[in-house]
Amino acid sequence: MTAGIVFNLQRYSLHDGPGIRTTVFLKGCPARCWWCHNPESQTHTPETAWSQNRCISCDACLLACHEGLKPRDACRTCGACAEACPTGARELLGKVTTADEVLQSILKDRMFFEDSGGGVTFSGGEPLCQPAFLKELLLACRAQGIHTAVDTAALCPSETLLDLAPLVDLFLFDLKCADETLHQKGTGLGNRRILENLEQLGRVHRNIWLRIPVIPGFNDTEEEMAALAEHAARAAGVRQVWLLPYHGTWSAKPARLGKKPPAEALAAQAPAPQTMELFARFFAARGLDTQIGGGA
Ligand code: SF4
Ligand code: SF4
Repeated sequence: MTAGIVFNLQRYSLHDGPGIRTTVFLKGCPARCWWCHNPESQTHTPETAWSQNRCISCDACLLACHEGLKPRDACRTCGACAEACPTGARELLGKVTTADEVLQSILKDRMFFEDSGGGVTFSGGEPLCQPAFLKELLLACRAQGIHTAVDTAALCPSETLLDLAPLVDLFLFDLKCADETLHQKGTGLGNRRILENLEQLGRVHRNIWLRIPVIPGFNDTEEEMAALAEHAARAAGVRQVWLLPYHGTWSAKPARLGKKPPAEALAAQAPAPQTMELFARFFAARGLDTQIGGGA
């Protein structure tokens, strides 16, 4: 059995596909989008976090640490400090686990899936960064008759995506920007492979929901939205498009990891409802079933 790294398992998710879902967050992502809601997902290994506002300076973590480290020091992520912390100020983000262990946790929610037409969503990070582990999870869910969704930015070789595609009931495909230079600037990566992956996936999979975050100062222009709508309309297999307005509720997270929030985030404002409606019309005009979602 392949070991994988999971940093969260969220029950009763209502925005990650149809029905009530359990969302499993796999660690690791090659991109560095400044608006990333889950900055703790980006590194590929477990890490420790510390929230100053929860810390009562009891020193239980210091006493528990075999290395004698302070809360923010680099560590070997054994998790002893997080276990000892009485307030949750010290956390271990990312746990090495197996598909069977994750499945047992998912199965506790089966009743909700059956009543609501829900299932499990594998998210991240970029879940396709752990393809062997993800494949085991998908096979295990299929054997149990559980509906699966994979939330991906397709940051992987096409072969990986196409190998997993037959095991996935629904793809939530994150598409961020059509212009390559802009994409590189906002995420740290070019988008050529992503666009190719969308086209290739669309040829073999008939249930793709595109999720497009609308990010101020990045892709919130008519030119970008028109270009994204062209890509969406060209890709066979796209059933729905979700436009997700930016919101900054994640912006306290970088401090937990000892990082500053990105400069762009300090200035960013959520797009106005009229702007979202205008952008939605670009997609609807190309015959795409378009929704405005809860947020990105
Ligand atoms: S154990 Fe938790 S609350 Fe106590 S000093 Fe460490 S981080 Fe702060
Ligand atoms: S691709 Fe997703 S998980 Fe990766 S950095 Fe961007 S927003 Fe975060």
